[in-house]
Amino acid sequence: EALSKILDIKGSIRVFCRIRPNLVTEKRRTSEPVSAGAERIRVKLGGTRKDFEFDKVFTQEASQESVFVEVEPILRSAMDGHNVCVFAYGQTGTGKTFTMDGTTEQPGIIPSALEELFRQASLDNSSSFTFTMSMLEVYMGNLRDLLSPRPSSRSYEPVTKCNLNIQTDPKGLIEIEGLSEVQISDYAKAKWWYNKGRRFRSTSWTNVNEASSRSHCLTRISIFRRGDALEAKSEVSKLWMVDLGGSERLLKTGAKGLTLDEGRAINLSLSALADVVAALKRKRCHVPYRNSKLTQILKDSLGYGSKVLMLVHVSPSEEDVCETICSLNFAKRAR
Ligand code: ADP
Ligand code: MG
Repeated sequence: EALSKILDIKGSIRVFCRIRPNLVTEKRRTSEPVSAGAERIRVKLGGTRKDFEFDKVFTQEASQESVFVEVEPILRSAMDGHNVCVFAYGQTGTGKTFTMDGTTEQPGIIPSALEELFRQASLDNSSSFTFTMSMLEVYMGNLRDLLSPRPSSRSYEPVTKCNLNIQTDPKGLIEIEGLSEVQISDYAKAKWWYNKGRRFRSTSWTNVNEASSRSHCLTRISIFRRGDALEAKSEVSKLWMVDLGGSERLLKTGAKGLTLDEGRAINLSLSALADVVAALKRKRCHVPYRNSKLTQILKDSLGYGSKVLMLVHVSPSEEDVCETICSLNFAKRAR
């Protein structure tokens, strides 16, 4: 069984790229620096061109539906008992939140996934499903519950204590002490909780866009599946959907109002994530989960037998070409 899990891992990490459309404020140029084929991206930098391969590239015109169609198979895996992690990676402003949350008119992966899970559960006659949801934010190594916010956690101080502890149980399962886990009995309930978590995430920051770009936002759906036989055991799998903190090299650019520690925290946790994915891909025995809170939280869901989908977001703009190349290099490491 272990061997088949290991052999399976190669097909278990998929890396997609999505290019954000030009914003109205961005100048259109005659020669765009980023061009795309179905599975390839080409970036022009100075006189040179660099090509990057992906499992799938979504161009600027790609709709939310066309992205979700490619995410759907992995949801089926989650329903089948695999642990699944979907990550949105990229520089701030490249569309991570648009892809994960979307808008009312153009819902993103998370609301679409919630709807799809209930739809598939209703179609399956041989098992019965129940779902729970948790949402948390990780900021500078601190964890915050987004579904049951405590009054004292409305704002972060630079050195607050971690208010939720990560524990490992004897079976190796990760337990986040005190994290709310709500029953979601139907799509309407799920949507209600999800919107609550999302609202809390944004209103708790003084400067929404700047601050939320420095935190990771994690949504976890636990899927409990029970066969119809009397003796059937209930199986549990986890579906994580993660809107990662901005990948820009903050220290270098000296982003507005950002402390050295904040920049370091984001960069460290993203490179810890890259190290874990790279170790899994290379079938290393040692997977370095311990290096960040993010990877510690995901430890039992991000291993052999899990499915990983990394959605790397890039800007179409000339000004961002250096960051674009950094993001594409990150993707190359994961793929
Ligand atoms: P990030 O979360 O990576 O910082 P956002 O999701 O906030 O980026 O996107 C930045 C801006 O670009 C937002 O105004 C968003 O609505 C817009 N945007 C991003 N991607 C798309 C897209 N594919 N189609 C339309 N608008 C987009
Ligand atoms: Mg965002």
